[in-house]
Amino acid sequence: MARPRGKIDVVCQNPKCRYYLNENGKDIIKSGRYKSTGHQRYYCYHCRSYFMETKGTPFYRKRLSEREIRNICKHLVDKNGIRSIERITGHHRDTIGTLLEDMAEYADQMNEYLTRKLGLSTSECSDLWRFVQARKRKLSVAAQEGLMKNV
Ligand SMILES: [Zn+2]
Repeated sequence: MARPRGKIDVVCQNPKCRYYLNENGKDIIKSGRYKSTGHQRYYCYHCRSYFMETKGTPFYRKRLSEREIRNICKHLVDKNGIRSIERITGHHRDTIGTLLEDMAEYADQMNEYLTRKLGLSTSECSDLWRFVQARKRKLSVAAQEGLMKNV
């Protein structure tokens, strides 16, 4: 299916913004390209700042909506295994596994998200990362490095 013209996939990358990583209510436009790197530049009307397209964050071009990601994170914190989350949410375990991998790769950013947007405590975050870490053998190198920087 064709993506509607002009649909913006990115969310605000400014941690100080009220709409940081927020899909709902975001107000973002494309605003030229960075001369040095050629990356697409974006502008957020909420915090009035420019930022660069960041590929690969858990929220970038994912099949899961932010609400679904939030839901899965909650289940993880409640110590549900991947198979039981698959049963509860109806998402295939591979989809959940891929999400975990992306979360690990961007663990720094995710911590910010988990505490600020999901209201998790630091110890709940640690529980979640411990769970992800237990699956280490299944993680990509990038994901393992992301985890190491964070945990
Ligand atoms: Zn913003």
